[in-house]
Amino acid sequence: MQQIAHFINGQSQTSEATLPVTNPATGQVIRQVAKADAAIVERAIAAAREAFPAWRDTPPAKRAQVMYRFKQLLEEHADRLVQLISEEHGKTVEDAMGELRRGIENVEYACGVPELLKGEYSHNAGPGIDAWSNFQPLGVVAGITPFNFPAMVPLWMYPMAIACGNTFILKPSEKDPSSVLAIAELLGEAGAPPGVLNVLQGDRVAVEGLLDSPEVEAISFVGSTPIAASLYARGSAGGKRVQALGGAKNHAVVLPDADLDNAANTLMGAAFGSAGERCMAISVAVCVGDDSADRLIEALVPKIQALKIGPGTQRGLDMGALVTAEHRDKVMGYLEIGTQEGARLVADGRSLTVPGHEDGYFLGGCLFDRVTPEMRIYQEEIFGPVLCVVRVESLDEAIALINAHEYGNGTCLFTADGEAARRFADRIQVGMVGINVPLPVPVAYHSFGGWKRSLFGDLHAYGPDAVRFYTRRKAISQRWPSAFETTHAEFHFPSGS
Ligand code: NAD
Repeated sequence: MQQIAHFINGQSQTSEATLPVTNPATGQVIRQVAKADAAIVERAIAAAREAFPAWRDTPPAKRAQVMYRFKQLLEEHADRLVQLISEEHGKTVEDAMGELRRGIENVEYACGVPELLKGEYSHNAGPGIDAWSNFQPLGVVAGITPFNFPAMVPLWMYPMAIACGNTFILKPSEKDPSSVLAIAELLGEAGAPPGVLNVLQGDRVAVEGLLDSPEVEAISFVGSTPIAASLYARGSAGGKRVQALGGAKNHAVVLPDADLDNAANTLMGAAFGSAGERCMAISVAVCVGDDSADRLIEALVPKIQALKIGPGTQRGLDMGALVTAEHRDKVMGYLEIGTQEGARLVADGRSLTVPGHEDGYFLGGCLFDRVTPEMRIYQEEIFGPVLCVVRVESLDEAIALINAHEYGNGTCLFTADGEAARRFADRIQVGMVGINVPLPVPVAYHSFGGWKRSLFGDLHAYGPDAVRFYTRRKAISQRWPSAFETTHAEFHFPSGS
């Protein structure tokens, strides 16, 4: 059976130990992925360390040219890549194309790196003194990524890290590694020298090796909150720069004046697209007033029952399978929990069968009504095709509810009232806010990040924050003796005025 290998120093490298990779639509093991041990982690770090000095000294405009070619290759290979994503993740090919496009937008942003690294300059900051700040790469940096966006999330990280002059080690999810490896190979084809990007396949052994190595200067992590929190604590205690993006529970508030048809249609995509396995998926609809809740549920239930669900590689579907049997069972467990907690399951996807794919990890769309804040189905991230409706009396109550939640990744307000929209955007304790936009994922030239336990660290992912995360500021003050003669020693603290 084919082994998805590591990619170290520009070469593919297999391991004796492997992990199975499954096609979620069939339940079949289709490949094995290499599982890194400590020795392979060391090899990847050595390759990145050795490639660093020459890459750091390569002019930014030349590094940008590699990114231009990389973007072009990603576009040329897009159809093959989205097939691989869909086959191992389960999402539809159209959805996989959407994630790849958003990933490519980050490569496009990295093409502007000469402009982004220009630095800051002050002429004559003191008598005969010129002062400037520049932004230098850190060295070897690592990224650890989740299963749910195998192409996009790695592309949030390494194009900018590498364009800034760092060398990179990526540890992708072991659940869907094939597209990640294929994309890394394209960067080599685009002209990145061996060792500039390395891919380490495997599980926590690889992560811990990177985390504990003093040679890895910084780590970007995206995944679940418990792992993000512990990785942030361990990495920063070891002196690394760490950003760790975690889980989410994203609320959409529906005001009585909202266009209900529009809200229902867009909520369908935001809640059930990618089978709810998105960190920005809407998993709670907070309806202000019973009338809005009743009308929204009436609009949603037939749409949920009409969802077209099947193997993601087949075109024209709304939703594919969940990523693993274990994850599907965990999501189904929440349907039991919610029912026992007293919520009303008004759409139940458990009876779904996909003919010819009886062993696939499918679950139909599910909708709970009368969910209350103390329920586990409200508090915990389910990460599946399950939408919960919570009923409140006012916008202020909705804002207080969202602000009390431990997560603060994304949120949205459906309304026709500009004043309410402005108040919501000002007061809400959430990092990414949509007004009539249920998936407010920032474009590549802004930055992405949640608040509270959705992000550990100071800087957000991609965009301008990525330039700061992957570089170190250096402030330089310069004076040439011929421009300013010193005649005596001065002992007071120098100032510019
Ligand atoms: P996960 O936390 O299980 O895994 C993420 C990465 O960490 C993988 O590479 C995995 O191999 C590694 N890992 C797993 N267990 C580990 C351990 N004990 N020690 C060290 N490393 C470990 O997450 P997942 O299931 O792959 O992805 C889904 C989660 O990611 C959800 O919680 C989702 O909300 C979150 N997510 C967040 C964002 C965001 O931007 N905030 C984006 C995408 C996904």
